[in-house]
Amino acid sequence: MNVSAILKQKGREVATVGPHATLMQVADALSKRKIGAIVVVDDHSKVQGIISERDIIRVLAQSGAQILLTPVSSVMTRNVISCGETDTLDQLMAAMTTGRFRHLPVTKDGALAGIVSIGDVVKYHLAEIQMEASAMKDYIAHT
Ligand code: AMP
Repeated sequence: MNVSAILKQKGREVATVGPHATLMQVADALSKRKIGAIVVVDDHSKVQGIISERDIIRVLAQSGAQILLTPVSSVMTRNVISCGETDTLDQLMAAMTTGRFRHLPVTKDGALAGIVSIGDVVKYHLAEIQMEASAMKDYIAHT
């Protein structure tokens, strides 16, 4: 299974904020949408960074609650690793393991085209394993 097939099932909506949004606004959006990360984009929808709940916890622990009033651009990760639509589940798992993050924005022709989380990866990987197991059982039962 590849990214294109995953996006066909889960949809292409990506939660984004502008670089001037405060960390409080980001925390509010993460909480309301029940998600773990938000992509930061400029006025032309170009990806500027990514911020996850882990970043917010880290700066809260370091600086206290007043940090929530600062813009997301001062805390976000700027070097965003993304994936393409032809990437496979195995490639996503490798990228997340190597990079130690749980979110991979999808880009197509340089534009944001979706996002895949570790939850999606686990869900579709399990479905793949179950399909393979049931095909094997079928095969064994009929030979
Ligand atoms: P996460 O596991 O997604 O909560 O993110 C852990 C750390 O990796 C945080 O500092 C994020 O800002 C960063 N991060 C998350 N996703 C990516 C990504 N696709 N590329 C680069 N950094 C990321």
